[in-house]
Amino acid sequence: MTQSPYLWSPPPIQSLAVRGAAARAPVNRLFFVGRNYHAHAAEMGRPVDRSVDRPFYFTKSPQALVESGASVAYPPETANYHHEMELVVVIGDRGFRVTVENAHRLIYGYACGLDMTRRDLQFALRDKGRPWDLAKNVEGSAVVSDIVPAPGVVLERGAIELSVNKEIRQRSDLDKLIWNVRELIADLSLFYHLEPGDLIFTGTPEGVGPVKPGDVLEGRIEGVGTIALTIAPP
Ligand code: MN
Repeated sequence: MTQSPYLWSPPPIQSLAVRGAAARAPVNRLFFVGRNYHAHAAEMGRPVDRSVDRPFYFTKSPQALVESGASVAYPPETANYHHEMELVVVIGDRGFRVTVENAHRLIYGYACGLDMTRRDLQFALRDKGRPWDLAKNVEGSAVVSDIVPAPGVVLERGAIELSVNKEIRQRSDLDKLIWNVRELIADLSLFYHLEPGDLIFTGTPEGVGPVKPGDVLEGRIEGVGTIALTIAPP
């Protein structure tokens, strides 16, 4: 009988289905871009000026990942849990200090994502200058669809929308990203050695809002696919 070298079971390797492929994509890190559509930045009360601002990021634990179609319990310690529908870029090659011109080489494909957020805590933490972790790194809050392989392809436009119980709440277009896919990859690669399996959630358009137990969220990105999430009782 072999003895495990570990005191307890190590965390599972997180992975996502890949459309048209038998093998799953193992997931490495989860990066999120803040305020990357002007109309959403405005609704958060923090407009963005590209000429002086730079993109900023936060992360979630890979263990916060859940697959599209899941039912996730309304989380504890919030009374204002929000949906944020986002395009997710899947990194498929290593890169550090990548130029905007070469950024496409790191792209494996795309997915639909939901960056679920404790908005009440985010505002309270933000206004005190504290880290966003308790607001953003919520268990079960990084929802991702299957991955569409599109190696080297840069998505520049396409409708992005989210409905709650069949009613449209968010609707925009990828051409309204303040920092586009190339610029985000290049900028993030200044700070991190990007690796296959890293996911970049590119930010949400306007129309974010609260969910409640029983709600069914359905999102769509033109040319990518669809995503679904059900909010279960706490
Ligand atoms: Mn977001």
